[in-house]
Amino acid sequence: MPTAYYTHPVCVLHDPGPGHPEAPARLTAVNDALAISEFDALHRFEAPEAAPEQLQLMHDAAYVASVLEAVPEQGYISLDPDTALCPASGEAALRAAGGICAAIDAVLAGDVENAFCALRPPGHHAERRRAMGFCLFNNVAIAAGHAQSAHGIERVAVVDFDVHHGNGTQHMFENDESLFYASSHQWPAYPGTGAASETGVGNIVNMPLSPGAGSDAFRAAYRDVILPRLREFEPELLLISAGFDAHQRDPLCQLNVTTADFAWLSQALMKVAAEYCSGRLVSSLEGGYDLQALAECASAHVQALLGDA
Ligand SMILES: [Zn+2]
Repeated sequence: MPTAYYTHPVCVLHDPGPGHPEAPARLTAVNDALAISEFDALHRFEAPEAAPEQLQLMHDAAYVASVLEAVPEQGYISLDPDTALCPASGEAALRAAGGICAAIDAVLAGDVENAFCALRPPGHHAERRRAMGFCLFNNVAIAAGHAQSAHGIERVAVVDFDVHHGNGTQHMFENDESLFYASSHQWPAYPGTGAASETGVGNIVNMPLSPGAGSDAFRAAYRDVILPRLREFEPELLLISAGFDAHQRDPLCQLNVTTADFAWLSQALMKVAAEYCSGRLVSSLEGGYDLQALAECASAHVQALLGDA
């Protein structure tokens, strides 16, 4: 069964401003890394725009409208200290959310086994009524809601290995036992949420890692806590918030995770998907700000999804 790859040219045009780490070059680096013959087996699709009813699974309608109305005709408009819009940002945000929903549709139809969505802006900091931390719409959370509402999937898990805690996803999931959210992240760090004591209704697992933590602590967090808890949840569908900014080269935080660790974790998550989800796994790009590390890690991640790691 093939692996799908969702992206769209307008997601490269989304530009939060000069010098911003969440730069268009990030997506170009990922697309270039996955354009080589080693990845010829990928089934490539352009991400469609999300429908309003999909966005409203996790966001207030008034918030969605306010983001789209704020998109400038030229220049930049800031929604928060880290999060800005350019003229392409509205369409990019709609395609970032819509691409993951389309990947869910393809995986649940059995057209592909799993999918990687190389889309931006990222999503896991976006709250129900608030843009935050480079994120406009919470792409992965929306996709989880879409899997439940459009396909009748009952239990959806999100594993978030971005170096930052996915505050938005946690808040959207924390009162719903049918959704599971597990995150490894640097602590202390932006956005300040993600203490181990934040457990929702027993469906939230946070594994804070100290600055300087590397392969051993990262793998132990998954091997000893997150993967066992994920198996206990018995998901029918596994979603991944795939941020690669825990890498030792990344400039935003101070973890020392390696490309080999991301490959190891990707294979471990594939194993859980095979055991509980009939292989159904959809992964979506979040952070990762060193272009070389991002390209290497995305390649290793997608190799694992293809089953030839
Ligand atoms: Zn991040």
